[in-house]
Amino acid sequence: MEQEKIFERLLQILNRYYHERETGNFVTYLDPEVLRRELHFEDSAGNQDWEEIFSWVEQYLAHAVKTSHPGFVNRMWAGANLPSVIGEIITAITNTSACTFETAPVSTLMEKYMLRTMLDLVGFTNGSGQMTTGSSNANMIAMMAARNRTDPVIKQSGLFRQRELFAFVNQDAHYSMDRAANILGLGTDHLIKIPLDDHGRMHVPTLQKSMEEIAAAGGTPFFVGATAGTTVRGSFDLLEPLLALRQRHGFWLHVDGAWGGAVIFSDRLRSRFLPHLNRADSFTLDFHKMLGTALMCNVLLFNNELSLFREVCSAGDESYIFREGPDHEVRDLGTLSLQCGRRVDSLKWFLDWRFYGQAGLAHRVEHYLELCRYAEEWIRRSDVLEMVVPRESFNICFRFRTPQGWPSGSLNCELRDRMHRRGVTLVGTGYVNGEVTLRLLITNLNVDKPELDSFFQTVIATGRELLAEGRTVPSTQDRYAEHK
Ligand SMILES: *Cc1c(COP(=O)(O)O)cnc(C)c1O
Repeated sequence: MEQEKIFERLLQILNRYYHERETGNFVTYLDPEVLRRELHFEDSAGNQDWEEIFSWVEQYLAHAVKTSHPGFVNRMWAGANLPSVIGEIITAITNTSACTFETAPVSTLMEKYMLRTMLDLVGFTNGSGQMTTGSSNANMIAMMAARNRTDPVIKQSGLFRQRELFAFVNQDAHYSMDRAANILGLGTDHLIKIPLDDHGRMHVPTLQKSMEEIAAAGGTPFFVGATAGTTVRGSFDLLEPLLALRQRHGFWLHVDGAWGGAVIFSDRLRSRFLPHLNRADSFTLDFHKMLGTALMCNVLLFNNELSLFREVCSAGDESYIFREGPDHEVRDLGTLSLQCGRRVDSLKWFLDWRFYGQAGLAHRVEHYLELCRYAEEWIRRSDVLEMVVPRESFNICFRFRTPQGWPSGSLNCELRDRMHRRGVTLVGTGYVNGEVTLRLLITNLNVDKPELDSFFQTVIATGRELLAEGRTVPSTQDRYAEHK
């Protein structure tokens, strides 16, 4: 095939895929071993054959998960916004790194513009920001900034012979916090998980007591990570009491808004879920989750700390690559980053922003919340479904009711797996107070009330089918327990 024809062929494939993305099954499921055999990895490589390349593309798509499909409701992201998909295609074809202005002039300015826009929106004065590879990374960088601000010699001397540092998070905080404690040399024992109140938020009196005990024993509470939308229950830690505690202990208050941070676009939802955010020390938000930008798209913002990113993240001889702007203005965004090569994430972000604007994103998030209300009502009205815990925000933790004597966990896991293997719908799972829950997340533009109706009808029909078969598969629950 001539190279000139390649894009024509590709566009045909993309068009077909795009038109079919909401219909049929969301996946043609095969077990890993069967899929591996089907794909023929052992055929020889290096043929420079475009027909072969397109045949791999077709095979990839044949078993790809259609994340735009209304049945895809298990993750915090789903099919991406079209403007950002266009951005991704341009990013791929121009293949450059967003670490210097030289190699990425427009994207550098777009990133700075977007960061400034977000800082203003959040209300961080004299703040600074960066796009990172995701909230996991952003949480780590925030913790690192807190660590180095607590004692600036740590950057050079490490944690040897330092006072013991302690970080505090919600017991249901994202696992990236544990990983950050590991990477940063604190050790996971120095990440204190605070038990929950009835709403799945950090129990503040317990937090206060724990901090006081640690301080009395000579340790330093240096970081509190509040979660705005916990992964399973969707709980929002209250910032006001944490800000009051900060006055006493002087820690860094980070807000992990990877998921629920999307409320900031709606004044109404922001004042309900995230009041006082403008007084936190840092905030992270994933645009690739509720806001629908193509994966990955994350922003991390620092409050009142203009040069801290540079102080915290830079190290080593970078003179071969970076150039300073006039007045020491940051010219190359790589100087603020832990990465050297940086994917251009700002183009897709910028295009989405131009297309939807703040009002469009606010409307989207408000509509999702409305659908969550509808879903909760549906469950409450049904006599075969039940909520595992009341809804806090955007997460719906529910399950199929099991008759006396039936193991609820294994039946619900089997139910979920069966719907998956049939390619009808994929819903999440998690644990609330040690019990298995199905976790429904509505973050897919193709899900509305009729799709929710049919989702619940499928859950009920599949649950009844399992009951009628009179069997559950206990090993399924064991399999989930292992991953906990
Ligand atoms: C998704 C999520 C993360 C991890 O974000 P990535 O961008 O996937 O690394 C962290 N915290 C919370 C609360 C999340 O929901």
